[in-house]
Amino acid sequence: MMPDARPVDPGLFVQGEEGPALLGARCGACGTTTFPKQESCPDCTRVDMEECLLPREGTLWSFTVQGFRPKPPYSGPEPFEPFGVGYVQLGDAVIVEARLTENDPSRLRIGAPVELVLEPFTQDPDGTPVVTFAFALRG
Ligand SMILES: [Zn+2]
Repeated sequence: MMPDARPVDPGLFVQGEEGPALLGARCGACGTTTFPKQESCPDCTRVDMEECLLPREGTLWSFTVQGFRPKPPYSGPEPFEPFGVGYVQLGDAVIVEARLTENDPSRLRIGAPVELVLEPFTQDPDGTPVVTFAFALRG
């Protein structure tokens, strides 16, 4: 992450030495993993969730390209450009929905290997850059 940048949400990801990783939660009772973190397990409903780092790399499970401006409030990059949105399978644990750095559908395919990256999202009024997470095609 750039030195003065801040994450779009402090609970979504961390910047480690190996690179960014998403913050999930794993159920101590049944092992169900969620992203974002949840207080109680969506599967067995127990309140025994522990924060965990999700794998940085995964495969594209499904995707689309957002070709028009989302409904307000839209706070993303200006001017608006179409962006890819993917469901990414991270290990056996979990499928997360995320922006993709690639927005050309002809370059995206189901099963493609992807990795987590941070990218500029917007800027605070005081000029502080705000970064968000996205998945980039590997290789
Ligand atoms: Zn559970």
